[in-house]
Amino acid sequence: MTREELRRRFALYYRGNLFLGAVCAIIGLVALIIGTVVTARIQKGEFVRPEMKFAMAVAYAAFLLFIAALAIIAKPRARAHGLVCPNCGKMLGGRTEPGVVSSGRCCFCGHVLVTDV
Ligand SMILES: [Zn+2]
Repeated sequence: MTREELRRRFALYYRGNLFLGAVCAIIGLVALIIGTVVTARIQKGEFVRPEMKFAMAVAYAAFLLFIAALAIIAKPRARAHGLVCPNCGKMLGGRTEPGVVSSGRCCFCGHVLVTDV
């Protein structure tokens, strides 16, 4: 791949990260709102409908499962975008991206990743 292709792959990967991060934030916000309402009512001694407690548990569980899923799919996603070093198998990206793009090499093992070095 060329350096420009590598740059585009990083951009596409980060766009996906942005989308997944937004979904995660929305789920987390819903869990936080429901949790705050339920907790406030319990602290005031008010009646909390069982459906509200169930909704809170589901929202928290969904948030935790989504975070776990993000961790599990991180490397397969990077691999699908061609952002895993074929030599050492480490994920390229994050703070290593500028060095990887500028040098055209894996920042961990030095393997040449681009054809236009
Ligand atoms: Zn490597």
